Amino acid sequence: MSLTITLLGTGSPIPSPDRAGPATLISAGEGAEAEHYLVDTGRGVLMRLAGVMLGAPNLTAVLLTHLHSDHITDLNDVITTRWVMAFEPTPLTIVGPVGTRAVVDHILASLEPDIGYRITHHADLEGPPQVKVIEVSEGIVELPGNVTITCGLTEHKPVDPSIGYRFDFEGASVVAAGDTIPCAGLDTLCRGADALVHTVIRKDIIENVPMQRMKDTLNYHSSPEEAAQTAARSGVGTLVLTHYVPPIPAGSDGAEWRELASAHFEGPVEMGDDLHSVEIPGA
Ligand SMILES: [Zn+2]
Repeated sequence: MSLTITLLGTGSPIPSPDRAGPATLISAGEGAEAEHYLVDTGRGVLMRLAGVMLGAPNLTAVLLTHLHSDHITDLNDVITTRWVMAFEPTPLTIVGPVGTRAVVDHILASLEPDIGYRITHHADLEGPPQVKVIEVSEGIVELPGNVTITCGLTEHKPVDPSIGYRFDFEGASVVAAGDTIPCAGLDTLCRGADALVHTVIRKDIIENVPMQRMKDTLNYHSSPEEAAQTAARSGVGTLVLTHYVPPIPAGSDGAEWRELASAHFEGPVEMGDDLHSVEIPGA
């Protein structure tokens, strides 16, 4: 048995014809018994999920790392599509930092006309989408299922709180860091993990872009070098880079990015196009 990481969206707030917004799927086990945890719900997430033959009803839970718009922009699509495409009531569990409940309440409020239309039109839709929100900060995330999920605070200020998640399943462990600079909370979460999925920006490029709005992003993201240092410091097995700023052309192997990371980390560095997947075998 294993954990499978699928980079559903490797993009960022910058729209790209090739890269969906930030979203990563962590799947535990195989076939109909598999559990599927969606970390963040960026632009186009359900299109990419369809690319691996899954839909919103297949998700075991959604876990949000933080409430930046690029990480949650398609949460409304996940909520609505799960509601409409599941043929029996299938409550959606959404885990996220403090503030998530208010965001979900506002999304549901914005969907009020749609919810009304569909309930009127479909006799078997008896009520609005069923959503269970669990706000977390540190420690074990109490969910049913066979995966132990732990969360810890990361550092993405002024986005506060922000959290990372660790998934442990039958001897395999994967951390999804989200957006963060190197920090003690992430180090703790990563200790001895088999893989770390980390969002990165190329600071060596962005610092030379003559736009203050871009330069502003330097102080709350990690570079490939910093993500690699976090992985090395915590004894991580495989480093998986995602959220490429600036966008890497589709089909590129990201050699330069890998080299920057590999100068600080001896293990394998994985990156690629949307739907790139990495299998982490269990013990
Ligand atoms: Zn962010």
